[in-house]
Amino acid sequence: MSSMSKEVKPESVSLCPLGMTAAPEQELLCIFGTGDFGRSLGQRLLQTGYRVVYGSRRPHSCGPLPQGAQVMSHEAAAQSAGVIFLCVHRENYDFLETLVTQLKGKVLVDVSNNLKKNVYPEANAEYLQRLIPGAHVVKAFNTLSAWSLQNGPSDASRQVYLCGNSAEAKQQVVETATKLGFNVLDRGTLSAARELEDFPLQLFPEWRLPLRLAFGLTAFFFFYLLIRDVVYTYVEQDKDISFRIMVSLANKVFPIVSLIMLSLCYLPGVVAAFLQLYRGTKYKRFPDWLDRWMLCRKQLGLLALGFASLHVLYTLIIPIRYLTGNQTSVFDTTMAWRVDSYYAMGILGFGLYLLLGISSLPSVSNALSWREFSFIQSKLGYLTLFFCTFHTYLYGWDKFLRPSYYKWYTPPGYMLCLVVPSVVMALKLVILLPCVDRSLTRIRRGWERTDPEGDSKKSLLT
Ligand code: NAP
Repeated sequence: MSSMSKEVKPESVSLCPLGMTAAPEQELLCIFGTGDFGRSLGQRLLQTGYRVVYGSRRPHSCGPLPQGAQVMSHEAAAQSAGVIFLCVHRENYDFLETLVTQLKGKVLVDVSNNLKKNVYPEANAEYLQRLIPGAHVVKAFNTLSAWSLQNGPSDASRQVYLCGNSAEAKQQVVETATKLGFNVLDRGTLSAARELEDFPLQLFPEWRLPLRLAFGLTAFFFFYLLIRDVVYTYVEQDKDISFRIMVSLANKVFPIVSLIMLSLCYLPGVVAAFLQLYRGTKYKRFPDWLDRWMLCRKQLGLLALGFASLHVLYTLIIPIRYLTGNQTSVFDTTMAWRVDSYYAMGILGFGLYLLLGISSLPSVSNALSWREFSFIQSKLGYLTLFFCTFHTYLYGWDKFLRPSYYKWYTPPGYMLCLVVPSVVMALKLVILLPCVDRSLTRIRRGWERTDPEGDSKKSLLT
């Protein structure tokens, strides 16, 4: 009996009510500053199971804090925890100089941002490290807003970037951020702090060039067509057709801008290919302007899709008004082929345009392999460009032969917009020639053309 009871004993221990077992000690973290960011961070930490202590200038009169948090003086708070989140603006870091002893060996997380770029000669985190050399400064959480911290990570704010010189200190912050539900991206040493501090100051950087371009092209073609269509008719024929500005003229501008911008998505790729062929290597950097251009191709394409969608919408409403007139004309088979092909190219082009736009969404592109993605964006992209360009050629048909279309000696807008896509497609055709394609493929697989002159000079020297 006694031996049996001995065997049963351990099981009875594991069956004890949960509340009776000793709960593991929750880690205590410290936050300096009881402002917006400090409060939001404290609340999230408490919800995740940490204990939180605030260090404040006014521990007895600071505003409402998350339930369960303690508040004390900076000195006392710093002594109680190993990791301190500094939720104070950089301008107020001076008070830390009095805490050099208490902060020695502690992990100091700098969450600060500035209002503008390059306000200070060094990054806030580097300044902090210089101020408290004994602490391990880690820059983190600055790319999140107090609001997103409070609401928990969502897709748009799931990432925490960090950097710091101490691997152990970074590891502690990584663990905390991961527990809070964030994905952590380590950007290296504290020298990356300025880059992280500049992140939140960015305002759609990759959209700037495409937006400027879209605005410039729209303005140019609007005034160009306004003069050619409305002003010309008024001056030469004494007819006021200014009402056309709202729909007809707009519907000429949108497809023009759309086609030019779509071809501008593909032009840098072609230019880069020719540059590689000319240099005989892929290991030389592209010029900065080409790099920047290539980096904003997605935005160029999305804006082009926007203009194409406007063109579709406007085209749908235009016939309603114009078709109400009783126009009878003799049936012409050639013309019927032209018009039907014109619509077919437009519809197919727009369908593929939509596919390009959808596949550029991160959620879709992440589900595609690199080969699938490049098949859609490159092969189908060129097909889209071909359909849309052909659609425009069919629109023009033989108008380029008729002098009446060159009002005031200016070519029609559609003719101007065909220049860039035609050039892009012609250059692409050259690249597709087997001899050119072979050389380009070899270069892209690492082959380099050696310079015979350079080689002979080298051999003379040796
Ligand atoms: P805040 O609401 O103005 O709070 C700052 C806190 O700093 C104050 O509540 C105060 O806390 C403390 N403080 C003020 N003057 C001080 C001084 N002279 N000496 C010592 N402590 C002082 O600012 P916040 O929005 O929370 O931002 C705090 C930090 O987080 C900033 O560096 C900011 O760049 C960064 N940040 C904020 C956000 C955001 O969405 N708000 C986002 C990313 C990063 P006590 O009165 O308790 O001492």
